[in-house]
Amino acid sequence: MKKLPSLNTQILLGCLLGIAGGWWLALPPAAPLAGDVLYGAKIVGNLFLDLLRMVLVPLVFSSIVVGVANLRAHHRMHRVWTTTLAFFFATMGLAIVLGFGAAHLFRPGEGLQLAMFAEATRHFEARQMPLPDYIAAFLRGLFQNPFKALAQGDILAVVMIALFLGIALVIGGERYRNIRTLIGELQELCLMIVGWIMRLAPLGLAALLLQLVATQNHALLASLAEFIAVVVGTTLFHGIVVLPLILWLVTRVSPLAFFKGAREALITAFVTSSSAATLPITLRCTEQHLHVKKDIASFVVPLGATANMDGTALYEAAAALFVARLAGIELDLAQQMIIFFVAMLGAIGAPGIPSTGMLSMVLVLESVGLPTEAIALLLPIDRILDTVRTAVNVEGDMVGSLVVDKLAGDAG
Ligand code: ASP
Repeated sequence: MKKLPSLNTQILLGCLLGIAGGWWLALPPAAPLAGDVLYGAKIVGNLFLDLLRMVLVPLVFSSIVVGVANLRAHHRMHRVWTTTLAFFFATMGLAIVLGFGAAHLFRPGEGLQLAMFAEATRHFEARQMPLPDYIAAFLRGLFQNPFKALAQGDILAVVMIALFLGIALVIGGERYRNIRTLIGELQELCLMIVGWIMRLAPLGLAALLLQLVATQNHALLASLAEFIAVVVGTTLFHGIVVLPLILWLVTRVSPLAFFKGAREALITAFVTSSSAATLPITLRCTEQHLHVKKDIASFVVPLGATANMDGTALYEAAAALFVARLAGIELDLAQQMIIFFVAMLGAIGAPGIPSTGMLSMVLVLESVGLPTEAIALLLPIDRILDTVRTAVNVEGDMVGSLVVDKLAGDAG
């Protein structure tokens, strides 16, 4: 019997096929079977996403409990925590500075005015949420009835419950060894299921890409091409230069080795635009391909998927300056500082699902009095921008776990 090409080759072929199919469907005149093909792609793509979501909650829960329970010595736990948070804040801060820098350097939006898009923005009302309400809602979402959070797939709340249980297992000690073993085995079984789901990845990713390419608003994309190019270019710079450089400086892992180990997760993040849906694959890549210690990966990656979003932070900073230019407003240094903090908060609070960065974008615009109806322009092009942004968000989590593994993994 003939051997199939490797999974990575199949994924690559699937992606190329999806893009080519999407182009073909988007070309006028509409292909005769276009509707049926899109319908089929929707079903297959959604099935793939549903399979990933099916395993997401038990995997996140068991991974964090096991990760924390294994960081047995207290001072080691402290070191892992602090290194993880320091890494998240530092890299998101860097991403925001990059976003600002690119928007100042390339000045996208110059020559355009918000008034030119009056038709697009007229009927649009952004969902407003003042900063204090946003913070209050974020804090209230942290601690919930565990059964509700698990049932509703509320990842941040699941992360919190799992942290508590992990810590309780550490403090409880040997007496609770059986529960620890049980949850550890649950995690191994979930990862085994992720391995099966990955076999469907070439087909699932092809279907999702086909839909993505076939359903874009090309006219709007063209009129905002400069802004899109600046955001995508800067995000890629962060993902291809900045993060790999940090990784190499701290761990001496070469960018090539990193991307080879991380590619399944990066491609899935790009195509699904969801750090959360990608999480099962991110964990698999970090533990099995990048060989990060299980307890570190299990802790850093799920936390990062909800709180560490370099791509989102960079986007919010660049987009705020873009909107300011469209509206003819010059932002002073103090206002840019405010955007820095609100963009960081927005990126931390945004759950890892498609286009949630848009919700906190409203917050960023409001924080310095920029017109929130500009969101009506950003939304239709967001599916495209969300691809690279999410891939870099996920990359940050994997780089973070390698860095934390190096700096804090051996302590104790
Ligand atoms: N889609 C992004 C993610 O899942 C969040 C965002 O919209 O920025 O990481």
